[in-house]
Amino acid sequence: MNQNLSTAPDRRILLQTLLVGAGALTLERSSTARPSGKEPMLQTAQTGVHTLPPLPFADDALAPVISANTLGFHYGKHHKGYVDTLNGLLKDAPDLAKLSLEELVKKTAGDAAKTSLFNNAGQIWNHTFYWNSMRPKGGGAPSGKLGTLVNAAFGDYAKFKEAFVAAAKGQFGSGWVWLVLDGGKLVIEKTANADTPMAHGKQCLLTCDVWEHAYYLDYQNKRVDYVGAYLDSLVNWGFAEKNLG
Ligand code: MN
Repeated sequence: MNQNLSTAPDRRILLQTLLVGAGALTLERSSTARPSGKEPMLQTAQTGVHTLPPLPFADDALAPVISANTLGFHYGKHHKGYVDTLNGLLKDAPDLAKLSLEELVKKTAGDAAKTSLFNNAGQIWNHTFYWNSMRPKGGGAPSGKLGTLVNAAFGDYAKFKEAFVAAAKGQFGSGWVWLVLDGGKLVIEKTANADTPMAHGKQCLLTCDVWEHAYYLDYQNKRVDYVGAYLDSLVNWGFAEKNLG
């Protein structure tokens, strides 16, 4: 499914995914000046229409931890659905259509009159960040600078894992669990629905989607098993390290 999207000629020209740099993923129009090369960037069309970035791996690359069936629905239906809905909403909001995705998320956060725009924009950004927070044969304890930061903040990797899984379990209803850099220290945060620490000016390093659609086909109600497997086998510490800046 991502194969079809990523190889469609019009999209291939317009999309460029770069996964390096300081801070968070951003969407930038190809007509704007490019950042100096360190910021990660997902380009959108010059028409101002947001596009679905390609998955950074094949649909079956995370199996058996996350099946191709789950990824197919999650990326091809849910993530794509947010893109399509946002583009529809922006037809009635031409001023907001000029903004990058990240700018749009920040601008609409907390605005009760723009909840639908925030929810769909936030979910696009969150999902792109989530795909990049994983890689085939990832997971386990980080080394290097992140290993030092994990040990400083949590004691050791086992305690970090315990805290991350507890946050996931404690998120009532749909939401996300995040590893955030706050004042030079690692912090675990959870957000509800489409909310993201990025909207509130925080530096995101990793995220795990704990909406039921992220795990129910593979794990049914066992969210803790899904998050444990995400940490043990999928977490992309290289992505987190790049987000340290
Ligand atoms: Mn999701």
